[in-house]
Amino acid sequence: MNILVFLGPAGSGKGTQAQVLKDQFNYVHLSTGDLLREEVKSGSELGQKVQSVIHAGNLVSDDIILDIIRHHLKSLVAQQVKGVIFDGFPRTLDQANAFNDLLAEFQLSVSSVLYFNLSLDESIIRISGRQVDARNNKVYHKFSNPAPEEAQLHLITRKDDTPEKVTHRYNVYIEETSPLLSFYGDHVIQIDCLKSIQEITNELVQLLESFQLSR
Ligand code: AMP
Repeated sequence: MNILVFLGPAGSGKGTQAQVLKDQFNYVHLSTGDLLREEVKSGSELGQKVQSVIHAGNLVSDDIILDIIRHHLKSLVAQQVKGVIFDGFPRTLDQANAFNDLLAEFQLSVSSVLYFNLSLDESIIRISGRQVDARNNKVYHKFSNPAPEEAQLHLITRKDDTPEKVTHRYNVYIEETSPLLSFYGDHVIQIDCLKSIQEITNELVQLLESFQLSR
């Protein structure tokens, strides 16, 4: 089972690329942000607990995140899926260490870490036009990647996508998440996020095809 970690700040295109690749390669896209927002939407006990943390752009506690990951990983291993794209996890060194231990329990390890590098200014510009289809969490941009006509009525803007919150999330990312680049060292492949969506997809497809061949 291929384990891919997508790392990068808000607006870097991780989610957009994960959605395309999951269909093309029959992988599972596991976004901890999407899972948490679903909990908030459903009004569950967990959702109520994390709602204010997410809206403020802070990180949910490692314990909660690791419980979610453990639960999903167990079921994905049982289903013998081909690969999983972890989008937005791990986000702290503690999460990354616990993830390695958890994967080892299933004789798995991280295959590759794709680093979507983006400046704060570019992150704010991209997020200010972001729209999400509430039915399936597909991500669009008002100008650079507009949603199809049939999705227009279902588009929402995330509450944490204001310029102030994006700046805060970027700072949290630099402080808590960017140390993972040295943690993963040689496993990290850097993606130039200023290329077009299609160019990046082509690059990633080539990369994933080379993984399949080397298995
Ligand atoms: P995202 O959709 O990845 O931008 O995540 C949205 C929000 O969910 C983040 O700002 C955090 O509040 C929370 N979140 C998502 N993934 C994690 C994680 N791995 N660790 C802690 N908090 C997370």
